[in-house]
Amino acid sequence: MAEPLVKVVDLKKWFPIRRGLLDTLLSRKKLYVKAVDGVSFEICPKEIFGLAGESGCGKTTTGRCILRLIEPTGGKIFFERKDITSLSSRELKPLRRYMQIIFQDPYESLNPRMTIYDILAEPLRVQRIVEDPSEEEELVHNALEEVELTPPSEFFYRYPHELSGGQRQRVAIARAFILKPKFIVADEPVSMLDVSIRSEILKIMLRERERYETAILFITHDLSLARHMCEKIAIMYLGKIVELGETEKVIQEPLHPYTQALIAAVPIPDPTYKRGKIPIKGEVPNPINLPSGCRFHPRCPHAMKICSEEEPQLIDVDGRLVSCHLYK
Ligand code: SF4
Repeated sequence: MAEPLVKVVDLKKWFPIRRGLLDTLLSRKKLYVKAVDGVSFEICPKEIFGLAGESGCGKTTTGRCILRLIEPTGGKIFFERKDITSLSSRELKPLRRYMQIIFQDPYESLNPRMTIYDILAEPLRVQRIVEDPSEEEELVHNALEEVELTPPSEFFYRYPHELSGGQRQRVAIARAFILKPKFIVADEPVSMLDVSIRSEILKIMLRERERYETAILFITHDLSLARHMCEKIAIMYLGKIVELGETEKVIQEPLHPYTQALIAAVPIPDPTYKRGKIPIKGEVPNPINLPSGCRFHPRCPHAMKICSEEEPQLIDVDGRLVSCHLYK
């Protein structure tokens, strides 16, 4: 098996809850939102690894922690076997070239005061990739051409507000790939775009990934999209991975009751897929006050006594990882 490019071990990100004066005076226990609570996985070079789950399950926080855009509370992050968990921003700078991100919102992620040319040239300048202005222009030109914003020179001096959502996301993709990264976090990259242009944008992303042999952590709430894009997938629920395996296997034959419920809830255009009716009760619990034992037990149709008493661990079941007492 290939050496992992990215390895995440027991990653945690807990956000402290602001407390009132009374809580401090009474020395009440500190409370946390455990957005990510002990997540481990590996991504191989060139692999597209999906991280899926409902909003608020911790997938975006996981992606940002891996890139060290936010500081993890615990655990380890390795990039090409190097422990990057506690590197300073100066130490991280040369690695930033190889680790990029495409954000969900193309309206927020581009600096409105910069021209498209400068948005694309900036990473080249920061990383001192180019020697002279003509080389810089050539790289910016090529980057725009690769994402089909042509003729590129017509986009050089435009500002983000002059572009459509789809065009902006193409710029964001060009910016992420201009440094030929080894790893990209793509955080719901098409969820804010019109359905009619999503497949076009995904096609461009896949082509760029092929060209530069980039591994992608593809964050999505959309399982049919994950199925289309990802070789492997991890399903998250309330800060934990509940199932991880090859995407086709997980989607065709989900083992964890939460994965089963998620799949039962989305339209999958596959006549061979056997859909079982799995009811999912109630709302996602309050992340400040997590249920004991298995976090899914208040909503699980298969919950047993042990489920509220003991937290299930991820174990190997039929070649994938599942955390559920049903498979002990
Ligand atoms: Fe359901 Fe129990 Fe499995 Fe949790 S451990 S998913 S409550 S059966």
